[in-house]
Amino acid sequence: MEGRPGSAGWAPKPSISYSSMRLYDQCPRAWLMRYGPECLPLNMRAAARVEGRLSPTAALAGSVVDKVITDALYCWHRGGERPRNLFPNARRCLRETLCFSREWAAAVRAGCTLPRGPFQPVESEFYGDGWTDNRKAEILGIIELCLQNLQQGGVLETIQECARDTWRLPPRKACPWFWWGTSPVYAKWDFATSSAVQTIVYDWKTGKPNDNAISQLHLYAAYAMITWNARREDIRLVPVWLRSGAAEPHLVSRTVMEALGLMVVERHQMIVETLEATRKRDALELFPMVQDPSACRGCTFRSCLEFGRSPEGRPACRIRPVHEFHGKRS
Ligand code: SF4
Repeated sequence: MEGRPGSAGWAPKPSISYSSMRLYDQCPRAWLMRYGPECLPLNMRAAARVEGRLSPTAALAGSVVDKVITDALYCWHRGGERPRNLFPNARRCLRETLCFSREWAAAVRAGCTLPRGPFQPVESEFYGDGWTDNRKAEILGIIELCLQNLQQGGVLETIQECARDTWRLPPRKACPWFWWGTSPVYAKWDFATSSAVQTIVYDWKTGKPNDNAISQLHLYAAYAMITWNARREDIRLVPVWLRSGAAEPHLVSRTVMEALGLMVVERHQMIVETLEATRKRDALELFPMVQDPSACRGCTFRSCLEFGRSPEGRPACRIRPVHEFHGKRS
């Protein structure tokens, strides 16, 4: 497998990650709005930059769980206690995330400097979708279940058995990346341990089990092989399905790894060439909207529906006009 470690700081653009490849496959227009807003027509750029910062409401429970677990592991690594009851921290994290999101949304509307914080603003607070008590209770229920399962499952015991100097916590400020062939690839693993004899890469999952998780973990295995010099046969990949507590280790499959390597190179090449073509052709034509309007339901780029049109020339669906939410637009 050819590659080399990335330098400190950010990867050269355009880079790729597992989630960005999936986004491109789901909707090229959404990819452009998130990763290449400078190629959009002038009147779309400001809204795309704002909306590109938003986190989908559906991902709220997952991002709270991720943050609380990572904070607890950092604390444990520094000599603190093994995580016990993380739910109070999660409640606080949820409250702070929503509070930050409201402040952030107000700053966008007022055209003020945007507040900085360790959170990503949540879509629902920006668009004013409103919360029902049931929805809040549902999110808290998922968070509580996931954290309970983490504490009662065997993953923390396995981690505890590994020497602290083998722990690999994801960097807080930058996102780790590496060169896979000639493609710069981001690989933000959740937690890992790596020694001369074994590397275990964990991924906290709050959703339902799916095959993408294994494929995504193979990308982290590629990072471990290239950056930590881990041997393929010494790596174990562990998707931790927090809703059920299942955490089955997987070997690294040579076939999956080769297919993923090809996919990375092809997608990256395609994106480089398509971005290059925007110098001469309309970027909206080169990065079309998704064909199936029902796919737009979970998308945070609502301005797309105001500016763009569905393939039939009609807006893909009716939502509140975006100018009600955004401040100034270029
Ligand atoms: S609203 Fe629909 S077409 Fe527009 S970026 Fe989102 S998914 Fe793509």
